Amino acid sequence: MRRVRLLDLHSEYKLFADEIRTAIEAVLESQQFIGGPAVAQLEEALAVRTGVKHAIAVSSGTDALLCTMMAMGITHGDEVILPSFTFFATGGSVARLGAAPVFVDIDPRTFNMDPAAVESSITDRTRVIIAVHLFGQCAEMDAISALAARRGIRVIEDMAQAIGATYRGRSAGTLGDAACLSFYPTKNLGGIGEGGMVLSDDDDLALLVRRLRNHGEKERYVHERVGGNFRLDTIKAAALLIKLRHVDDFTKRRRHNAARYDELLRAGPVCTPYVADHQEAVYHQYSILCERRTDLADFLRGRGVDTGVYYPVPLHLQKCFASLGYRRGALPVTERTCDAILSLPCHPMLDDDDLEYVASCIHEFYATSKVTCAAPDAAERNAGEL
Ligand SMILES: *Cc1c(COP(=O)(O)O)cnc(C)c1O
Repeated sequence: MRRVRLLDLHSEYKLFADEIRTAIEAVLESQQFIGGPAVAQLEEALAVRTGVKHAIAVSSGTDALLCTMMAMGITHGDEVILPSFTFFATGGSVARLGAAPVFVDIDPRTFNMDPAAVESSITDRTRVIIAVHLFGQCAEMDAISALAARRGIRVIEDMAQAIGATYRGRSAGTLGDAACLSFYPTKNLGGIGEGGMVLSDDDDLALLVRRLRNHGEKERYVHERVGGNFRLDTIKAAALLIKLRHVDDFTKRRRHNAARYDELLRAGPVCTPYVADHQEAVYHQYSILCERRTDLADFLRGRGVDTGVYYPVPLHLQKCFASLGYRRGALPVTERTCDAILSLPCHPMLDDDDLEYVASCIHEFYATSKVTCAAPDAAERNAGEL
């Protein structure tokens, strides 16, 4: 039986194993494990490819968010608006600073934060909006930036899933006051361990992030602010420099896979992802909305096809945020999406036969059950003006 995995990091690694080993060995020979040329080169490479002035490598995507908000002075009494439909780190970082996460609902077509919901959640305590570019498609940045600019609110792009995505021809990472990347091994630019990056054009913010990364040190043993150890290891930077060379090819593969799935599944029993004309997504996930998700996922597993649920529980219903007072029903689109979303294998190592096999298994499952997508169907979604 064909086996279609959600990820195939082994096959990816084989493409550049020798280069990575050589690069790691060079770091071992140098015995410089913190900082050094590899980290500076990685920062420079990401600044150049994104088109921002400053790139600061940090220890994870989570720490990128944390550091950025620390640099912005986010603290007790502040509110930060973010989608509930995201990876936990987006909200966790806000709470760790003592600020209040304010969760908003999403657009049912894009799964990204609904700008109208953002607007109605703004108070005089709102300091930051975190725009998550979920699954590799940018949030509706024009509307969000306009809202923020009018009120002096800062915008952070959580682009952990969106390296290489564009919005009206502009790169993700250039659309807010700062942007946060993750190099977690399963991300589109995945490293050999934890890692992240803060991108910004703001000189003052970048300088502060750079200092906060190293315990807030201004010069040797001089600390004006309390930071942390948020540094990226040299070995990881060296490996990322090699993987960075492949990221555009991998993105092309992901886009090809998504386009093929669109053809094979559109007008079928599931809702395919909606990407507006002014967006170029990088398909960190290819996520469909489907009826009888658990049965479908079980059926696919039985056919050798792995799937994922990102995310089964929205942040506003997590126990750790219970004190914020959200109840089921508070963010209905988010809640419905959590119940119906399913991510199909879309990684760069798949071939067309894999994609056709996955699609045929999905058609096979629904052929017997005759269900259709309860959410707005693909045609309706694609007709939607964004
Ligand atoms: C992965 C991810 C993060 C956190 O990145 P880590 O490197 O795992 O700390 C934050 N936000 C989103 C949307 C993510 O997908």
